[in-house]
Amino acid sequence: MKILFYDTKSYDKESFEDTLKAKGFTDITIEYTKSDLDPRTAALAEGFDAVCAFVSSDIGTQTLDILHEKGISLLLMRCAGFNNIDLDTATKYGIRIMRVPGYSPEAVAEHAMALALASNRRLYKAYNKVRENDFSLSGLMGFNFYEKTAGIIGTGKIGAAMCRICRGFGMKVIAYDVYQNESLKDFVEYVPLEKLLSDSDVISLHCPLMDSTYHIINIDTIRQMKDGVILVNTSRGALVKTDDLIEGIRMHKFAGVGLDVYEEETNNVFEDRSDEILEHSTTARLLSFPNVMITSHQGFFTREALGAIAETTLQNALDYMAGKESPNDVKNG
Ligand code: NAD
Repeated sequence: MKILFYDTKSYDKESFEDTLKAKGFTDITIEYTKSDLDPRTAALAEGFDAVCAFVSSDIGTQTLDILHEKGISLLLMRCAGFNNIDLDTATKYGIRIMRVPGYSPEAVAEHAMALALASNRRLYKAYNKVRENDFSLSGLMGFNFYEKTAGIIGTGKIGAAMCRICRGFGMKVIAYDVYQNESLKDFVEYVPLEKLLSDSDVISLHCPLMDSTYHIINIDTIRQMKDGVILVNTSRGALVKTDDLIEGIRMHKFAGVGLDVYEEETNNVFEDRSDEILEHSTTARLLSFPNVMITSHQGFFTREALGAIAETTLQNALDYMAGKESPNDVKNG
């Protein structure tokens, strides 16, 4: 099978080539292009059996029309999300879509804890101060996590990993989810959202973005939080209403805010750094606060997670070749 791999970064190529070699998958060859998949680049797939794309690719009707015309019948998503695909059109053309539903949840959970710790102890500020030869401690006071309360919203794969990490810190762990995770019953107490908001010293978001979770953190829920809380979001930007978060920061509600995801992520705010865009950017406004730390959607970015993504994607290709059904098939509807 010949796969065209879109939007290649050097680390993608490395992890996929290493996995091909390590697993001895000789039936698969991959060509890599730096271009992302969209209507302008879909025609590059001529002569290939499958394309490999990412959550950032534009896989709407036009792209699928062209992929179908070029004989592509397998779309390998090297990510969990697939809301960028026109599923009706893919179904119409019989294009099979396979994805990677889960990979190293610990990668994201460990990053969530890193953000919580870094914003609590002002590590970014400390780092810059010492580099400037300023060894004073002013502005660096934090609080112990030990014996404090961690509130975890969403206790699926990543949220459960975060619960285990918080327990390791000696924290009391409470959680809110629409389903209870049995594996956590020995040390996690499920509570209503209101109680989680009012009792937690650290709140970390691990639920998916859906109608029911859109802007789950807004000025009403922020007002219910303890003063001096730390809020971490490594899930999806639109779980937090950014304007309200800014209002909350101005009210001095937060000791720290750590964000790996933010509402403007897809607007290329920081790629196109024009003054006008930055002036209206809520993310740029967030960055002006000294107790906010933002990273660039890097929660998943560990060697182990990239290896797991490559392995599952290539196994998906093999299952397709063998005509096997897979739990990684994306179903329409
Ligand atoms: P998961 O499906 O295993 O868990 C999600 C949990 O959220 C489930 O237990 C579900 O019941 C719960 N949930 C659903 N609706 C809810 C609601 N209204 N309120 C509270 N909880 C609710 O997913 P996961 O693998 O743990 O991933 C969680 C999220 O992490 C993903 O949706 C994704 O947005 C994000 N993510 C981020 C990165 C990153 O690099 N930062 C990487 C992977 C995933």
